[in-house]
Amino acid sequence: MPTKKAMTPAEVKEEILKRYPTKVARKRDKQFLVHEGPEAMQTKDIQANVRTIPGIITQRGCTYAGCKGVILGPTRDIVNITHGPIGCGFYSWLTRRNQTDASAPDAANYMTYCFSTDMTEHDIVFGGMNKLRQAVQEAYDLFKPRAIAIFSTCPVGLIGDDVHAVAREMKEKLNAIDPNHKVNIFAFSCEGYKGVSQSAGHHIANNQIFTHVVGEEMKRPEGKYLINMLGEYNIGGDAFEIERILDKCGITLNSSFSGNSTYEQFARAGVADLNCVMCHRSINYVADMMETKWGIPWIKVNFIGAKSTAKSLRKIAQYFGDKQLIDRVEEVIAEEMKNVDATLADVKPRTTGKTAMLFVGGSRAHHYQDLFKELGMRSIGAGYEFAHRDDYEGRRVIPDIKVDADSRNIEELHIEQDPANYNPRKTDEELKQLEAAGFEFKEYAGLIPDMDKDTLIIDDINSWETEKLIEIMKPDIFCAGIKEKYAVEKLGVPLKQLHNYDMGGPYAGFKGAVNYYLEIDRLVNSKIWSYLEAPWDKEPELSATYVG
Ligand code: SF4
Repeated sequence: MPTKKAMTPAEVKEEILKRYPTKVARKRDKQFLVHEGPEAMQTKDIQANVRTIPGIITQRGCTYAGCKGVILGPTRDIVNITHGPIGCGFYSWLTRRNQTDASAPDAANYMTYCFSTDMTEHDIVFGGMNKLRQAVQEAYDLFKPRAIAIFSTCPVGLIGDDVHAVAREMKEKLNAIDPNHKVNIFAFSCEGYKGVSQSAGHHIANNQIFTHVVGEEMKRPEGKYLINMLGEYNIGGDAFEIERILDKCGITLNSSFSGNSTYEQFARAGVADLNCVMCHRSINYVADMMETKWGIPWIKVNFIGAKSTAKSLRKIAQYFGDKQLIDRVEEVIAEEMKNVDATLADVKPRTTGKTAMLFVGGSRAHHYQDLFKELGMRSIGAGYEFAHRDDYEGRRVIPDIKVDADSRNIEELHIEQDPANYNPRKTDEELKQLEAAGFEFKEYAGLIPDMDKDTLIIDDINSWETEKLIEIMKPDIFCAGIKEKYAVEKLGVPLKQLHNYDMGGPYAGFKGAVNYYLEIDRLVNSKIWSYLEAPWDKEPELSATYVG
């Protein structure tokens, strides 16, 4: 009889699935892969972006969370009004740690507020559009913002409130009041029940921001090597660190989607020379649309991990092909790596050989494996909450992905070239030369190719599977979110939150890598995990004989 530790990954999977009713087991089987090596994985596909099984205790959130919380939340000068009962706005109030730097004391920053129409029974019965109009008017009167965004929650779609009509009507009305102050007002039909997860909310946010804001301003700002950073949300100051590095290299950040961003940045995104995509899942739609409309190529980058940061900087420099930039990037890397290497020399002997599991969102379960590699640690299990097959298997599978009934109601925008501003940033010849040198445009290879044989890849993991994995495989660290944290730590395994960073960070870039190394060393080598069992449970009771 093999011990629990000696179970093969296939046996682990079997052990976990056998508890389920047949129908559930059949479905989970398709979302639960054992990595059988690179060749075998070429022919295997994972089921992802499908409806969660009711009652299974998923990690997932809703479409509203993906739209308002993730994409629009980090932008400081848009008043974001949640149209719905108070819960949705309240629970998403400052709970994502997307930081911002309003740069001047009088600069607009509405991120500390929670704006809600606070719908009641009356609004459900008679409709909430009047209340929404009043809320928009009040927000305008109080703040005179550059833009107001309206986010629909579950009941809004069910009772038939037309949020887009209110947005149009109020935009016209308010812009007529004061022609010197233009306000843009737009709405998102991101009701929580749409799609199957946060992912639908990303798509809806991408569509609306592209329709109503991106391209509004086509004047190129000052600065060389103009890039947009897409899908980087400044959690724990990640974007600040990336901005510091780009600045040091002499690369100009034109706009960020959407860590530490402003409305104006979204508006002028169409003038950049290159789009760099960090979180592929949440923002690839905008990257594709900008390429079609204005001819801006996009590349996948990763600023999580010191080596990945260096690789991404080199990629950007190679794209521009300017010797001065290439040399400067090398200087910056050499300078920054000194501290990285010194920290690793201290930490790595204590972390080498340890194991990690990562079940997070739609990109971090992949990106953070680079940091663990740098620490000499192995990622033995990973998966996403809401990613699609292309985030697991690479974009090559996109043509084969079948959109099921649950996601069919998410609109696909049809984008065409902008005749006035379309401008391919590179000639065909230049693109071919870059590709011959190994450059990949519009490409993301996904999580699976970076994982080792005999690891587990699990989509939309749930509470039961998490507990069972920990019990059987005993990783040295588990990465997930706040809902999992305390349940996992009660099992004696440290949990590193890769959504809110346990209030730490930044973890991006070179300084972020150093922060992460120190944090992981502290977590996996803490003595506290050895105190979980009382001494009298480990040792047999002492016995003594009375000698009279
Ligand atoms: S599922 Fe519906 S009610 Fe819940 S947070 Fe999302 S929008 Fe609000």
